[in-house]
Amino acid sequence: MAEIDHFAGLTSAELDAHWMPFTGNRHFKAEPRLFVSAEGMHYTTADGRSVLDGFSGLWCSNAGHGRKEIADAVAQQLVRLDYAPAFQFGHPLAFKLAKRLADMAPGDLNRVFFCNSGSEAADTALKIARAYWRAKGRPEKTRLVGRAQGYHGVNFGGISVGGMVGNRRNFGPALDVDHLPHTLLPENRFSRGLPEHSGEAMAERLLDIVNLQGAENIAAVMVEPFAGSAGVILPPKGYLQRLREICDRHDILLIFDEVITGFGRTGSAFAAQEFDVLPDLLTTAKGISNGAVPLGAVFAREGIYDAFMQGPEHIPELAHGYTYSAHPVACAAAMATLDIYENEKLFERVKTLAPVFEEALHGLRDAPHVADIRNYGLAGAIQLQPRDGESGRRAMEVVLEAYRRGVLLRWTGDTIAVAPPFIIEQAQIEQIAQTLKDILHTAE
Ligand code: PMP
Repeated sequence: MAEIDHFAGLTSAELDAHWMPFTGNRHFKAEPRLFVSAEGMHYTTADGRSVLDGFSGLWCSNAGHGRKEIADAVAQQLVRLDYAPAFQFGHPLAFKLAKRLADMAPGDLNRVFFCNSGSEAADTALKIARAYWRAKGRPEKTRLVGRAQGYHGVNFGGISVGGMVGNRRNFGPALDVDHLPHTLLPENRFSRGLPEHSGEAMAERLLDIVNLQGAENIAAVMVEPFAGSAGVILPPKGYLQRLREICDRHDILLIFDEVITGFGRTGSAFAAQEFDVLPDLLTTAKGISNGAVPLGAVFAREGIYDAFMQGPEHIPELAHGYTYSAHPVACAAAMATLDIYENEKLFERVKTLAPVFEEALHGLRDAPHVADIRNYGLAGAIQLQPRDGESGRRAMEVVLEAYRRGVLLRWTGDTIAVAPPFIIEQAQIEQIAQTLKDILHTAE
């Protein structure tokens, strides 16, 4: 088998062997984009180029790459205690991390259930919601409500409640879920930060679902405070507050998926704090461990946990969990990550940089093909007009060209998403915007 040297020495058999997730495998393997190392704000590619990370890997490396503190914590933990059984036995670091996370979380979201990813966090939260109502003697409350364009990972609960139909289409019957409309509205185009219009009216569409299904049958509503994967779709002002009020009035649990918004992306630890709305369950992953080791966590309000604490004491109150729940190595990585966020005041840095980021992105407003620009904290989206009949193609071409020019971004449909690590410098924000501007001016 011939060596393909500029492919990091990979043979074509090796390229074929790895079935890549959420990737056009044939397209990728014809011209692989491979990273071989990373430090700070930059990746190094297999062909020896430095690429500015404008996307925190995949919304996760919030403190930048190659953090020695995390590497040391992981290495020490592996030697001290590489694994402990997750069921019926434990290890102290899991409890210490849970308490530390509870102290960061808003309100009484003080009970933390660990898993390994955002997808697992989503399905865990949905199962807790249903089991909660059983524990409260209301077993008929099982229905779930999601939102169009929502993303809650790829497990069956997540794709059912999620509203990106392409992720559900090929997998047979999903759960029977009602979906709120998304909040991407023409009257809010080019908003800076939270859009002004139609927040309460959009949230009140939940009342249609309550009317249809009956609140007595609905367990929970799950939304991202802002939809990340679908291209930074922000909640108009008042939207989340109104959702909370309707859920309260009808005894429906509100679940926030903060896999992207958690751990500083908005400038607060959690979007729940930033937008001042307290959910009943809150899911996280990604930035919790800086993406260095897989980890997810579901936060539950004390009353939810308490509802489970009944029955014989030796029987698990929740028949759910993963071999790697609260894995010692992931807990060590998370502890070191939280130290970095704290010591370097990185969430405050997001707040400081957000206006610079907003200015840079909205500076692209008059560039060719731009249909909308959205931003909050260090998350931004530039939505392009699709080229005739080729939805998603132009955004893909722009992102691939940016990669060639040394900037990592992400495309999702017709939208280019930007979400840099919080250690980014102002000049690097400007570099991202300038690169996009140059490309858009020559793009077909
Ligand atoms: N929820 C949200 C809001 C996400 O953005 C993601 C990942 N992009 C997930 C869940 C799924 O996380 P994972 O890929 O770790 O399963």
